[in-house]
Amino acid sequence: MVAEQRTRKPAERLSLSWHWHRRPVVHVTGHMDAGELVINGAHYAASPIGATDPSAAGERCDFHWRLTKADGERYDVDLSGNWPPCSCADSSFNPARPGGCKHRRALTEAMEQGRLVLVVRYAEGQG
Ligand SMILES: [Zn+2]
Repeated sequence: MVAEQRTRKPAERLSLSWHWHRRPVVHVTGHMDAGELVINGAHYAASPIGATDPSAAGERCDFHWRLTKADGERYDVDLSGNWPPCSCADSSFNPARPGGCKHRRALTEAMEQGRLVLVVRYAEGQG
């Protein structure tokens, strides 16, 4: 009976739709406004993890993100190629899923489309 469980079908590629409800913005003061990412209809607050560099003018891209659902559930996503790519259960239990879990897929696609770039805004009078 154990042997039959091994014939379980491999995880399939997820169907996915996502969009930014609001893109994240980094201000030159270092303050950051979290973005709001919608994945398959669920809203997540999206923030880069770790230090932001307020002195970096223009645009920047971060590889470590935290997605927080309205109910408080959090997922940490690593787009740099390290393991694990996401802290969610799907990522742990289905490591071979093509494209990965929905969190990683959404953020990866956002990055590929150049839409994961943070806009650094200068305060008025400083630009
Ligand atoms: Zn995930």
